[in-house]
Amino acid sequence: MKILVTGGAGFIGSSVVRLAVARGHAVVNLDALTYAACLDNVAEAARSPLYAFEHVDIRDRVALNRAFAVHKPDLVMHLAAESHVDRSIDTPGDFVETNITGTYNMLEAARAYWIRAGKPAGFRFHHISTDEVFGSLPADPSVKFSEESSYDPRSPYSASKAASDHLVRAWAETYGLPVVLTNCSNNYGPYHFPEKLIPVVILNALAGKPLPIYGDGSNIRDWLYVEDHADALLLVVEQGVPGRSYNIGGENERTNLELVKTLCAILDEKRPKESGSYADQITFVTDRPGHDARYAIDPTRIRRELGWTPSVTVEEGLAKTVQWYLDNEAWWRPLQARNGVGERLGVKA
Ligand code: NAD
Repeated sequence: MKILVTGGAGFIGSSVVRLAVARGHAVVNLDALTYAACLDNVAEAARSPLYAFEHVDIRDRVALNRAFAVHKPDLVMHLAAESHVDRSIDTPGDFVETNITGTYNMLEAARAYWIRAGKPAGFRFHHISTDEVFGSLPADPSVKFSEESSYDPRSPYSASKAASDHLVRAWAETYGLPVVLTNCSNNYGPYHFPEKLIPVVILNALAGKPLPIYGDGSNIRDWLYVEDHADALLLVVEQGVPGRSYNIGGENERTNLELVKTLCAILDEKRPKESGSYADQITFVTDRPGHDARYAIDPTRIRRELGWTPSVTVEEGLAKTVQWYLDNEAWWRPLQARNGVGERLGVKA
């Protein structure tokens, strides 16, 4: 299969690119290379003859049409997006342009290409989205997001992703475009950009800096190892039923405070401080406006229908992630210096 992956130089997209090439797929990585991109994430895959790169902005429809015409993909996996909630509060317009208009451009370019190609039966447009479109859950652990949950986005980021989900469904209903959608919980793992919570905590801990936690740290997120997400995404694009959406999550709910304490405990083992614990560096900071209380995914559909299960527990995944950051300073150090991202109090919602 030839897969056009947008956002393949980002955190999750690069995991998809690496896995797809390793499984023998041809991959066209289409990316505008914003501040969040890093082509080193796909350096090994890029050595394969199966890999091609297109430096294209999804806001540029002409360039998208050309990329479809040149590469003739069998499948499209659309991950390119502005993805950081805190940035969406500062500069919401970027999120509207890339996440909404950019997705509209992708749908139109894909539809024109699909029609020209004679509407091949196996073609899929896979839109990758977030659980944040469903809003915030009460504390009751029996209540989780399902594919039938109603949309209730509350940040500029989640509102822009919700809008893009609606466009994708409309293109399926109105034009018959064969789409699949996925909504996933918070990802973590190798190559996570140093402005997001888990890398901020690991890198600030090592640097002896405060470990910032919004509010009282009681906000709950459901964590999934990025490579397990990439595996689920390839399963959905290859075997998902057109028109259907699938929720993806690791069933690993943790409060932000529990998560940070777990990371500190792993670091205490792997790189002990001269005295005390890394947890001593925890600092509570003013809460983010509109901070959603709890997200939790019910992944029953993807488990039952497609047989997907995560390969690691959250404890294993976090230990692997900490070790990866300890081993890969050459990757994160230059990115941290870029845009002063290490200074942001980033806590991805
Ligand atoms: P990321 O910010 O790490 O990467 C985004 C990539 O998209 C970057 O390589 C960037 O250069 C590219 N990009 C941004 N604007 C572009 C544009 N206008 N044209 C072309 N390329 C552009 O994001 P991520 O965390 O890997 O998330 C990928 C997707 O998965 C997003 O759609 C996001 O909404 C979704 N998602 C993320 C999470 C998470 O926890 N990170 C969870 C669920 C869903």
